[in-house]
Amino acid sequence: MSDGDRIVIVGAGVAGLRSAERLRELGFDGEIVIVGDERRRPYHRPMVSKQLVTGQLRPMDVELKPYVDVDAHWRFGARATHLDTSQRVVHLPGKEELWYDGLIIATGVVPRHLPGAPRHDPRVRVLRTVEDAVSLRRALTASNKPAVVIGSGLIGCEFAASMRTLGRDVTLVGHAKAPLYRFGPRVAEAVTETHEKHRASLAMNSEVRHWISTKDAFGLHLTNNQLIVASCVVLAIGSVPAVDWLRGSGLDISDGVLCEPTLFAEGAEDVVVAGDAARWPNLRFDETPRRVEHWLNAVESARAAAENLMAGRRLAKPFTPLPRAWSSIYEHRLQMAGMPALGEDTVALADGVTGFVRGGRLIGAASWDKPRAMLHWTAELERRLPVPEYTPVAEPAAELSPTAEPSLETEALPMLSAQAAEQQPYVPTEALPELSEDMMFSDEEWLRVGQGV
Ligand SMILES: Cc1cc2nc3c(=O)[nH]c(=O)nc-3n(C[C@H](O)[C@H](O)[C@H](O)COP(=O)(O)OP(=O)(O)OC[C@H]3O[C@@H](n4cnc5c(N)ncnc54)[C@H](O)[C@@H]3O)c2cc1C
Repeated sequence: MSDGDRIVIVGAGVAGLRSAERLRELGFDGEIVIVGDERRRPYHRPMVSKQLVTGQLRPMDVELKPYVDVDAHWRFGARATHLDTSQRVVHLPGKEELWYDGLIIATGVVPRHLPGAPRHDPRVRVLRTVEDAVSLRRALTASNKPAVVIGSGLIGCEFAASMRTLGRDVTLVGHAKAPLYRFGPRVAEAVTETHEKHRASLAMNSEVRHWISTKDAFGLHLTNNQLIVASCVVLAIGSVPAVDWLRGSGLDISDGVLCEPTLFAEGAEDVVVAGDAARWPNLRFDETPRRVEHWLNAVESARAAAENLMAGRRLAKPFTPLPRAWSSIYEHRLQMAGMPALGEDTVALADGVTGFVRGGRLIGAASWDKPRAMLHWTAELERRLPVPEYTPVAEPAAELSPTAEPSLETEALPMLSAQAAEQQPYVPTEALPELSEDMMFSDEEWLRVGQGV
């Protein structure tokens, strides 16, 4: 990319904003256009199922403050409908065509719908946006009947905790043995005890068999034969990548956008992908492309994608973070590092810290209220999962001079602008804010982390 070029970013969430900031930090002074289908500035999405739905924070409180002036042309309420990579054009409604020299795809995910659920009934809801939280809160205020959340993963547990914080009856329905079971039996046990202590009802090992809709309420007949009456039902059964608009673009969108290790989209020039929508091989673990749906990953991948777009495909560096995430449930803090989902076995690393092992190798950790021990095991994972050597993609022979092929070490920076050269090249550990213990227990601090990284 060079000055005078136009970079289009599709998706005005945290990944969209942070990639724009990184472009400016690197000295890009061409045009940046950010296209987002929501009608508001990027905000702190994790607050949706926590402080926003409880009313502790208002929508204006959760807006992300840019930490550099992105000087972008924002297109709010505009949904990209199609991508033509051969013409380098993003299509917008009204036959508008937006040309680009570089494109950053950051369209995230959307909530998965449950087959059989009456999806057009306004009492059946999902939680992803500020609007979802505000309208759900309004509906909850209008009726004091119980709520049900289907799905016992992170968002389901957070929402159930939010309901109990408001003093509302809530039942968590999940088909796993226990909530958050994928983080190991110890975390699942701690979460179960916590929900029980706060008198949230749990209906585990069960699914909805029949939906009975009446004027005032829903009856949910579960496979464990329980019948639950609820005024509103929240579906929290996972998400699917928001990549429909890329159909027919030639990109592989089988589960998010398939990328090279550097976050360059496979099968297109000058297109990088960031955040929840990117499926890339994190070479720190293996060569299998996967998506990661966590806040810090969105921040870090956004910065890496911007750096690689600026550097160009040949000098791009693989994005090899150690994924880290958190969740707050009641007054407790769940933390994760590495890739717990890849674990074949679990091991107790310390009191309250579970390790996840694959092929005899520690590849992840999860903890419940153990920030100090988690600091140690996060650093330990960094050490035990080193980043392997990487051979960059080959370019057409004509572009390479066999005698003067630049070394990645010494010549990567001159490709960037002078200002960019003053910046440190991307280092995955640069955004390790949770290594401060205070930050682990204060949501304000986490809010600051999201804004400041
Ligand atoms: C309720 C909730 C709670 C969460 N809590 C936590 C937590 O505690 N900890 C944690 O680590 N992570 C949490 N996450 C996950 C975290 O918020 C995401 O990983 C992060 O927001 C991903 O950022 P993103 O920019 O990739 O995607 P998003 O934040 O989803 O932003 C993508 C944007 O692109 C827009 N878009 C989509 N398609 C188009 C299109 N065709 N044209 C234009 N715009 C489009 C979307 O509307 C959206 O505004 C939570 C997520 C949710 C939903």
